[in-house]
Amino acid sequence: MHFFLTLNKDGRVGFSPFRERDAQDSSVVSYLCAPLSCATIQAVQEQLRRRDPFTFWHKGSIRKDSKLEIIKILKGFGWNASDLTWKEYGPALTIGQVSPEEQDNEAGKAFNQLTLGRQLSMGDLRGLARELKIKEDDIKKFAHFNVEQGRAKWVPAVRKVGNSWQCQRCGERNVEEWPGQYEMAATCRSCESIGSSTSLDVLYRDERSLSGGPSEVIFQPHWVLSEAQRIASEQVLQFIKDPRVETALLWAACGAGKTEVSFPSAAWTLKQGKSVLFAAPRQDVINDVTPRLQRDFPNYPFQVLTGTSSIKFQGGRMVLATTHQVLRFWRAFDVIFMDEMDAFPYQGSRALEWGLNHALRQGGKILYLTATPSSESLKAVRQGMMRLIRLPARHHHTSLPVPIWAQSRHSLEPNGCTGGWASQINSLRVQGPVLVFVPKISWIDPWIKCFRRYFPGWRVDGSYSADPDRPSKIKRLRQGEFDLFVSTTILERGITLPRIQVVVLGADHSVFDERALVQMAGRVGRTRENPGGRVVFVSQRRTKAMRTAVQWIEEQNKRALELGLIDIRDS
Ligand SMILES: [Zn+2]
Repeated sequence: MHFFLTLNKDGRVGFSPFRERDAQDSSVVSYLCAPLSCATIQAVQEQLRRRDPFTFWHKGSIRKDSKLEIIKILKGFGWNASDLTWKEYGPALTIGQVSPEEQDNEAGKAFNQLTLGRQLSMGDLRGLARELKIKEDDIKKFAHFNVEQGRAKWVPAVRKVGNSWQCQRCGERNVEEWPGQYEMAATCRSCESIGSSTSLDVLYRDERSLSGGPSEVIFQPHWVLSEAQRIASEQVLQFIKDPRVETALLWAACGAGKTEVSFPSAAWTLKQGKSVLFAAPRQDVINDVTPRLQRDFPNYPFQVLTGTSSIKFQGGRMVLATTHQVLRFWRAFDVIFMDEMDAFPYQGSRALEWGLNHALRQGGKILYLTATPSSESLKAVRQGMMRLIRLPARHHHTSLPVPIWAQSRHSLEPNGCTGGWASQINSLRVQGPVLVFVPKISWIDPWIKCFRRYFPGWRVDGSYSADPDRPSKIKRLRQGEFDLFVSTTILERGITLPRIQVVVLGADHSVFDERALVQMAGRVGRTRENPGGRVVFVSQRRTKAMRTAVQWIEEQNKRALELGLIDIRDS
């Protein structure tokens, strides 16, 4: 999107996406015919400010050579003088700006409701125009009107900060530079999955708070918190109310019901008239929590935003979004609950972390929820930068199954079910279906064949991320139709399978860090009906990750036992 530089009677320099004169501001006398990017306009304004702030920014100081000055600056950027001509406004020129009446019409009202707190690219705004069934120009008018009223800003999507570039949507500094027509330009690749972000693009940043929703917030939980959950839930609420600390980590045992622990705090926040974001790296986590929230907040409207490519516009102060969608908000939320902080693609993504931090209002709160905290967050806890809240026990008062190690004498590259560990699978199967994790996709088929040979009569299958039959196989797995199922880490999180027993083949492989191992072990014993079960790590060596995973699980059990939150302790 491009803008036109405008000059006012009093010498002030402004800009507008329209060639026509601003109906609200009849003091505009001329504009520069060449359309410019937002980044170029801001660079011109910055140079003018530096050269002679008094002349250009003090009302009433008109200098006749303002136009020459601007042209000189643009020539310095590499523009040809022949492209740079000024056009004077005549009294008969069409007026192209939005009027207060238009802003009050149905489309204007909808625009203002749906863009609160949002950070939107031109592509996103075009999508909104299609949704509202209005012209692209009308969307620009509404947006620019808000900018003129000081409620919003136009920001170059990628801009120069000092000597380097920075994407203003995701904070990325490692961008691709390329020669534009008049100046160097840059493209951000880190956030391109939600639409283009270059120095020639512009972002519409709406600085108003989220609003809407019923004045009375009805919170009717359909569950009773366990003692462990109740303690953690009270600590979360204390954190939300405490102005001294901004971030906290809820470190929960796998399957301890960490999400519901945050619901009372969400209800309290909404009742204060504030806004809440539930974010997670993966769509299935959002899809899982949405119906639970809808059930417990029966009269409350939610915005649910998942996927990356498209955007669906909704209103309201409660938002559920994947971390990519969070990049489309700016300083919008008072409280953010960030679930599964250590999961792909959030873990290790500077862009998504930057986006989450910038979606938070000044003085807002972020609670990270996880069963396997990242080393950075544990470091922040140790340094006193982040408060730690523990939820060490599952609701059924049974300890977490501690993995046992079965050493293999041979490499576990698929070579046949040899070794004592294979016969252990038989005893696991007596307790329930066996889920076998492997470190590589290339191991899946050979191991399926191997298990089928070794256990004739068993229903054996497997899956991995790109498997076209994955959804149907997972559905059958949930229904208990397999005796043994081989999987990569796609099933390490977010799935509860009754009576499941877990084997990790090649547990010493470098893809299995302590977090993956704890998550895989955490699939066992999640339900009240079947709280027990076994986890076996099979490998040639015992790695540090394997030892740490066992330590974490044992430490949760020890803590839960000390607090009287579990009844028995498995050995
Ligand atoms: Zn970016």
